Amino acid sequence: MRENNFLCPKCRCQLVPNKKIVVLARPAEGPSGLLLLSPELGEYSATTHSAFKLSEGQKVDIFCPVCHEDLGDYKDHKNLARVIMVDTRGEEYDIVFSEIIGQRCTYKIQGEKIESFGEDADLYTNFWGEVPKY
Ligand SMILES: [Zn+2]
Repeated sequence: MRENNFLCPKCRCQLVPNKKIVVLARPAEGPSGLLLLSPELGEYSATTHSAFKLSEGQKVDIFCPVCHEDLGDYKDHKNLARVIMVDTRGEEYDIVFSEIIGQRCTYKIQGEKIESFGEDADLYTNFWGEVPKY
């Protein structure tokens, strides 16, 4: 079965070389590192190397690991980052997620349609206006 592809919005490189989305995470202090995210929307396992530790509630800035573009500040919201997902039918979506470690919210956006995932999706309800429930 073909799987969804995830792309950098800037350089459109593939962010899933194998099973996980790879992004560069930069904490406010200390060194940056690679962060692996699940391509399953609503599935929040995140992996880093044992030498690169992030803690719950910590804010990071997310960058493309290839072109180093800042993927954060989605529509000027300081906590939200964006990647592009192309599904198996070739449909393209914005995938917006929180840059705060441990915050479980993801939004799949195509035009006016917003689908939300994760138990913390309501956190940004004010930002989105009415978030539809599925
Ligand atoms: Zn890029």
